[in-house]
Amino acid sequence: MAPRQALLLLLAWLFLSLPTSISTPPRICVIGSGIAGSSLAHFIKHYTCSTPGRTQCLDDIHIFERRDRPGGRMATVTIGGDVFEAGASIIHPKNLHALRFASLLNLPHKSKPASSDDSDSWVGIWDGDKFIFETLRPPPASSSSLYRKIHSLLNSLLLFRRYGFSLFKMSAFVKGMLEKFLSYYKELESRPVFTTVEEMLQWSELYELTQRTLQEELENAGLSAHLISELVTVITRINYGQSTGISGLAGAVSLAGSDDGLWSVEGGNWQIAAGLINQSNIFLYLNEEITSISYTGASYSLKSKDGTNHNCEVAVIATPLDELNISFTPPVSIPSRRLQHTFTTFMRGLINPKYFGLKSASEVPDLVGTVEKPDLPFSSISVLKEYTDEEKTYKMFSRSAPSDDLLDQIFSSRKETIRIDWPAYPHFEPPEVFAPIILDGVHLYYINSFENAASTIETGAVAAENVARLIISRLSNSRPDAQTIKIPTNDQKDLHLD
Ligand SMILES: Cc1cc2nc3c(=O)[nH]c(=O)nc-3n(C[C@H](O)[C@H](O)[C@H](O)COP(=O)(O)OP(=O)(O)OC[C@H]3O[C@@H](n4cnc5c(N)ncnc54)[C@H](O)[C@@H]3O)c2cc1C
Repeated sequence: MAPRQALLLLLAWLFLSLPTSISTPPRICVIGSGIAGSSLAHFIKHYTCSTPGRTQCLDDIHIFERRDRPGGRMATVTIGGDVFEAGASIIHPKNLHALRFASLLNLPHKSKPASSDDSDSWVGIWDGDKFIFETLRPPPASSSSLYRKIHSLLNSLLLFRRYGFSLFKMSAFVKGMLEKFLSYYKELESRPVFTTVEEMLQWSELYELTQRTLQEELENAGLSAHLISELVTVITRINYGQSTGISGLAGAVSLAGSDDGLWSVEGGNWQIAAGLINQSNIFLYLNEEITSISYTGASYSLKSKDGTNHNCEVAVIATPLDELNISFTPPVSIPSRRLQHTFTTFMRGLINPKYFGLKSASEVPDLVGTVEKPDLPFSSISVLKEYTDEEKTYKMFSRSAPSDDLLDQIFSSRKETIRIDWPAYPHFEPPEVFAPIILDGVHLYYINSFENAASTIETGAVAAENVARLIISRLSNSRPDAQTIKIPTNDQKDLHLD
């Protein structure tokens, strides 16, 4: 061997045997700073940087966000000086990632968000002509705990009188889904890394629920038509703006959103995303909209609206692609998916009792839910805060933009109105077809391919955790320092239910 060749070989050998602490970690670019993007960054850092020396720390993570604040669909509005959740407002007590994030970030819980319908809430089901069912008015704030318990019991009896044993069948259906969902928190050694959404759902035995409608699933479970067309419909219209034609899985998730023990983060759920990004020391670029992603053979070049280029070895899409105009070179192919737009209108003023055929605003329930009727102009109206008998803040969900005329019919006075048109969640259409998680066979990943299974803060975190593990494992197979990028196997031990 010529001396020059021998020297080159020696240098190559020396380079490959350098301690990993000085090798450069691949740069990971993430588009979107909602729960999917922020928790992905958290999991990648947590899994690779929490045991120094044992593993290569993947800490070169850059998140691009087109808005001026992180959180995405976890966002707040301020009306009349008070702050309310504008998007994702409630978190289930069995959402273990969200619970762990809040505790890690010291974020205080707020129980009983005003829009949740727990046993104390005053709920009415409106069919466009009349209230077909109503729970009792809430007990006065000064009432004793015994009085509250009796009140809650009476409400349960009222519900039982109307819907009978079907209520228990509904609870069993939701419980069955939740138990299967809990398998996503199992310890890492017993939980595979999934390369497709189908695999991920089949493993937890939730896939079949995405292939049939909620209506079909509940009929199979023996629920009465009465319960499905009233209470169940009210809940799916509130939580997903859609009918019982959504998939069984999205429906079960939506019904779980009326369980007891729901919570939110005091001051806004968006703080989970902001906190995870802050705590992980991630590079966050606000007001940076990515317009194109090109694969150059060695890395991805992300171009932003203002013309800046960012190069990275790994690119992750953490937002639904369905209504975005990002151009991909080479092109990527995903099944078409419609997003359900939910028009969220906040009003400070007073509801008009005459619209509901009542004499006084104090007779209108705090949460008005609706059944599925084509001419009903809203899905729900809930009281978020009561200032006086004459002034409250309301949140109204509707499937189309409410005109001023309509609002003036429903509200007798409006001091302030804020309108948001959310491309809110997928229009669930079973049998669901899922986009790939790996979009190009290299290192372009799509977290929100999971979203047509269900769309929540927690499902975003569960999908992101899988993508984090997938990136780590695929990087370790494709890099010379493979053996050093590893996840500590006992990591999930801090996830548990009390
Ligand atoms: C009205 C409403 C009520 C809801 N209620 C609940 C609830 O009570 N509980 C619950 O758990 N879930 C609820 N959800 C669903 C929940 O909000 C979502 O499933 C979840 O927040 C999605 O998070 P994500 O990170 O996947 O996407 P997003 O939160 O949408 O984040 C994506 C981010 O990417 C950014 N982005 C997009 N394109 C680009 C680009 N080209 N360049 C840079 N940045 C880009 C966006 O600005 C956004 O910040 C609700 C949603 C809505 C709309």
